[in-house]
Amino acid sequence: MTRILIIYTGGTIGMVRNAATGALESCDFENLAANIPELGHCGADIDTVTFEKPIDSSDMTPEHWGMMVRIISDNYAKYDGFVILHGTDTMAFTASALSFMLENLTKPVILTGSQLPIEAIRTDAKENLLTAIEIASAKDADGNAMVPEVCIFFHEELMRGNRSTKISASNLAAVSSNNYPLLAHSGTDIDYHREYIHKPEPGGEFTPHYDMDPRIIIFSLFPGIRREAVEGVLRSDSIKGVIFRTFGSGNAPENEWLVELLAEAVRGGKTIVNISQCATGKVQMEKYRTGRQLLEAGIISGCDSTVEAALTKLMFLMGCGLSQEQIRRRMNIPIAGEITV
Ligand code: ASP
Repeated sequence: MTRILIIYTGGTIGMVRNAATGALESCDFENLAANIPELGHCGADIDTVTFEKPIDSSDMTPEHWGMMVRIISDNYAKYDGFVILHGTDTMAFTASALSFMLENLTKPVILTGSQLPIEAIRTDAKENLLTAIEIASAKDADGNAMVPEVCIFFHEELMRGNRSTKISASNLAAVSSNNYPLLAHSGTDIDYHREYIHKPEPGGEFTPHYDMDPRIIIFSLFPGIRREAVEGVLRSDSIKGVIFRTFGSGNAPENEWLVELLAEAVRGGKTIVNISQCATGKVQMEKYRTGRQLLEAGIISGCDSTVEAALTKLMFLMGCGLSQEQIRRRMNIPIAGEITV
């Protein structure tokens, strides 16, 4: 029988309502499992590891990512696949981070959760969890994992983790992959779109990484942005990397002070990555004069990356102790299918 390890971190999927305040709060895995008797006969041999204290994913940190990597690497040989139960709020950050931290992955790591807690009558928890287990168990005709990568399964859709983003606080279809096709769709059958699924490098040895450098900020432009605000961010010694959210295809106002501050920050060793505020499409700084000036200031293109993937990739590369030049080069080379080049 296929062996699956569930890693329970928390999230709405296992939350219960506090009778006094009415707010949803994290609860243990036993309560979740008691509400899904199907877990006992879904065709896989399932074990569970849970965070000592399950959390709302707003509390997720790079240390928690390291804990998940540790659990997966300690159990890598024993299981055919891993399912991570996680709150939806920061699920795309965790999925992106894990896609970089788990090098040469040959087994499925499927994150899922739900918009409604397991105890709600219309809960989406059951369908999401049971299908995620089925996907983590799936093998191709040669007996290899069908989806050997970090993915999010949510509301009938299997997405590459580092291409996903949370798009709705209320719809059951809460997660979307805007710049990359779905890896599978689940209806009455699960249809795998194999041409889009990552194939592991032959002979590549699974290598877990634990260090992420969080000295990064996400900084968003808006019409009328003031010099003092930009200075505060770009001249801060505690910041080494900036995810710079620009307009359209990577454009910024033609203010001399802005371009000079950006160039000064790059000269001072900061890595600045241009990510569009648009949900789809890609950064093309050469397209407009308002973009070219950023290219000339030494800003790197984030291509068609999500914010979550760009942020965690930069944390990862900085955590590897690479030089600014190496980081600049590697930001534009895909590690785990996070950008289209
Ligand atoms: N606040 C919750 C969390 O991210 C929301 C959810 O799970 O959907 O943990």
